[in-house]
Amino acid sequence: MQHELEKFLPANRIVTNLSERAAFAGDKWLAGPTPDVVVRPRTTAEVAAVMRFAHERAIPVTTRGAGWGYVGGAVSNCGGICLSLDAMNSLSEVSEQDFVAVVEAGVVTAELQRAAREKGLFYPPDPASSAHSTLGGNIATNAGGARCLKYGVTRNYVLGLEVVLADGTIVNLGGRNHKNKTGFDLLSLFVGSEGMLGVVTGATLKLLPHPPARRALAAVFADISQAAEAVWAVFAAGLLPAALEIADEATFAHFLAQRGLPPQRGAHVLVEVDGQIASARAEIAENEAVLRGAGAREIEVADSEIEVEALWETRRQFSAALSASGKIKLNEDIVVPRGKLVELVEFARILGEKHGVEVACFGHAGDGNIHVNLLLDSAQLERAEAILDELFAQILSWGGAITGEHGIGLAKKRWWPSAVSPEVRALHQTVKAALDPKGILNPGKWI
Ligand SMILES: Cc1cc2nc3c(=O)[nH]c(=O)nc-3n(C[C@H](O)[C@H](O)[C@H](O)COP(=O)(O)OP(=O)(O)OC[C@H]3O[C@@H](n4cnc5c(N)ncnc54)[C@H](O)[C@@H]3O)c2cc1C
Repeated sequence: MQHELEKFLPANRIVTNLSERAAFAGDKWLAGPTPDVVVRPRTTAEVAAVMRFAHERAIPVTTRGAGWGYVGGAVSNCGGICLSLDAMNSLSEVSEQDFVAVVEAGVVTAELQRAAREKGLFYPPDPASSAHSTLGGNIATNAGGARCLKYGVTRNYVLGLEVVLADGTIVNLGGRNHKNKTGFDLLSLFVGSEGMLGVVTGATLKLLPHPPARRALAAVFADISQAAEAVWAVFAAGLLPAALEIADEATFAHFLAQRGLPPQRGAHVLVEVDGQIASARAEIAENEAVLRGAGAREIEVADSEIEVEALWETRRQFSAALSASGKIKLNEDIVVPRGKLVELVEFARILGEKHGVEVACFGHAGDGNIHVNLLLDSAQLERAEAILDELFAQILSWGGAITGEHGIGLAKKRWWPSAVSPEVRALHQTVKAALDPKGILNPGKWI
């Protein structure tokens, strides 16, 4: 295959050496099979040429951003070509006039956030992986993050896309207008399509004015149920923070232990507000009063950007603290209707007790999007699917969803049939067959 690829790609853009290819095998969920070849094109024309080549020969193509996904989406499980967008990383424009950024797919999320900030602009989507993940990967997974509560997910910021279709055709959808109702909303079809409908090579993203002030607070409650009730009390008081995060007793205990801090039993809540200086101050004070009324045992208020970041640093350590437990961590990013939050955290605790496994929950409580983490010994691993069957069945019976932001990929393939109706699965098949008739894009995943 190498010689044929060299007809349209420079040799240094084709990785054939086994040890170098191995670096493209897995993502953060799974170390998968090594792809037969890795290509790292620099231009859309090169991507199109790769797709034309693969389409003619029906070779599987797995598109890859940074490989920071959590569901095996970038794993080349059927071999073939790994199409890495990491070298298409130019950030060509941040426009203060139009409030847009024009990027190639391989630009790292945090780089865009930094570049926008330098011009007083704001790109709100903030997956916790933003220092590593690419905007192409964020678009393909419709990534969320803590600020989704107030600002929405990646989808809400995609104004235009350049996509290479499975047969190599290049299409440009949308543009730099903040509104556009010309034809079907095809652009949205590619957002969250997990690399199965086309290769995103570039995007025009919406920016906002950067809010001049951020304030935050961290509160400790007696237990997760009381903390979940407090989340509800915040909304009931008519408040809409930018972020409203929660962590249960198990997560908080692992964090304290890992930091060498004195143990204390409690659940953790983090609230961030943003806006004009006076309104941010007033709003954080109102949140504080509500949380005290809801039973907060301790509250620490951050009154400057540096203090806000220090509170977030604690929140960012939760996932790593669970990983440092030495157990196998399965992170399930389920989502429930907001009113079911208290029932969810109680159900997760009972599920853990029933199966004799540790369950630790934390996440975006304001969105009902909680990361339910199973912490397993290797001997318990074989029980994981049965535990997850029970968890997902309960979530779905509440009208929730098996994934709020990570996607389905390989990790949740088993539960795809129970997550949507046969009619909706058939509709997915129809769309897939229309755009990728040979089924070469990301084969073996959930469609
Ligand atoms: C520690 C950690 C924290 C995380 N926090 C969050 C979070 O807060 N919110 C959240 O939503 N996710 C989170 N994630 C999940 C993950 O980071 C996101 O899914 C992210 O969008 C993946 O980006 P990537 O560039 O690494 O994509 P990859 O992992 O490389 O790919 C992900 C999927 O997108 C497809 N894809 C990638 N690039 C393209 C492209 N250009 N065109 C078409 N398809 C493409 C791939 O085929 C694959 O199916 C987290 C992951 C980790 C490890």
